[in-house]
Amino acid sequence: MEKEYRQETKCIQSGWTPKRGEPRILPIVQSTTFKYDTTDEMGKLFDLEADGYFYSRVQNPTSDAVAAKIADLEGGVAAVLTSSGQAANFYAIANICEAGDHIVAASTIYGGTYNLFGVTLKKFGIDCTFVDADADEETIAAAFKSNTKVMFAETIANPALVVLDIEKFAKIAHAHQVPLIVDNTFATPINCRPFAWGADIVVHSTTKYMDGHAMQIGGAIVDSGNFEWEACGDKYHGLTQPDESYHGIIYTKKFGKKAYITKATVQLMRDLGAVPSPLNCFLLNVGLESLALRVERHCYNAGRIAEYLNRHEKVSHVNYAGLPTDKYYPLAQKYMTEGRTCGVISFELKGGREAAVRFMDSLKLAAIVTHVADARTGVLHPASHTHRQMNDQQLKEAGVSAGLIRYSVGIENVEDLLEDLAQALDKA
Ligand SMILES: *Cc1c(COP(=O)(O)O)cnc(C)c1O
Repeated sequence: MEKEYRQETKCIQSGWTPKRGEPRILPIVQSTTFKYDTTDEMGKLFDLEADGYFYSRVQNPTSDAVAAKIADLEGGVAAVLTSSGQAANFYAIANICEAGDHIVAASTIYGGTYNLFGVTLKKFGIDCTFVDADADEETIAAAFKSNTKVMFAETIANPALVVLDIEKFAKIAHAHQVPLIVDNTFATPINCRPFAWGADIVVHSTTKYMDGHAMQIGGAIVDSGNFEWEACGDKYHGLTQPDESYHGIIYTKKFGKKAYITKATVQLMRDLGAVPSPLNCFLLNVGLESLALRVERHCYNAGRIAEYLNRHEKVSHVNYAGLPTDKYYPLAQKYMTEGRTCGVISFELKGGREAAVRFMDSLKLAAIVTHVADARTGVLHPASHTHRQMNDQQLKEAGVSAGLIRYSVGIENVEDLLEDLAQALDKA
């Protein structure tokens, strides 16, 4: 779009702008393939010499429109959608790292990403050093090595709810000529735009607030276009040296600011194929249309509930950066729109693990689900669910204690949620 609209408007209008006589609503292009008139025309597409769709593993019009909306919301130059948030994280790293490389990541990241970095990437020869995101610059900088290629963190960590000091991380990353990748799933671009604070690449699990209805798994990678790959010599040679699988094209030369996303699309999607279905992209787009409205309500409800829990005698501790007493309140005020964070709260009961289980089993409205950040209120016990594979030391580093409850506040009427909490806490 030519004019720079506000976020609420972009949620509705960005991505698909129909021309005369075209469908008002984003069409679901449920087709694997696209037709051409001559052999040569199709050949040029395979060589990246011409623009156009040819096979939906690489690009599809429905997917591209939704990617463009997300890029617009983040203020990036380009985006690519993936079939899950995990695929987005993997591709974001694999696009610029290979065997022998090293990454630095905040230790509080989502459990699935922690496993991906600590266990699976290791098998591919990519090592990860986890750092305490709250540590001072010097301590964090000490984790960097000559082969470090990426720094990674979450704007609001799932489920520890640590708010990232994005400027601090960006400064350290850039001092080492490394891009900062930020997972902005929990904040969403409605509450935070990491590019404005120095992040270079943003990833999302669109499964969460963006979809917002717990209907489908999905992910996105967005590039700010700001990182200077060529200024780092041959360090990011996959972007700055010829790609033999495309007759020697050089991504930075041919695609400029879109080099990173183009490579992820035409190389990683082509070879690894974690592509979302057109129908899922359509559903994601419907979710995005109400993202701004929903996020406001999620945050309002969560604020009310966090205050209630904070005053409750059976609750020992509440993590919610919207509370003025929270350790991360100042960072939330700095980085988040109107200080709003997300709809997810975590807290501990004085009775520890057993009280947590009794409480959870007594909830009537909030359901026990392996999910967060959708319209329905849900609850989970990280130590026995998402973080089950971690030992006590790893749990501690991830900011997850044995009694911690993750409560994802939906968009129901908050009075009903408060009454449900009250009766369950009575039984805890
Ligand atoms: C859920 C989540 C992921 C993983 O996304 P999937 O869509 O489940 O693959 C990654 N990062 C964060 C912060 C998440 O909340």
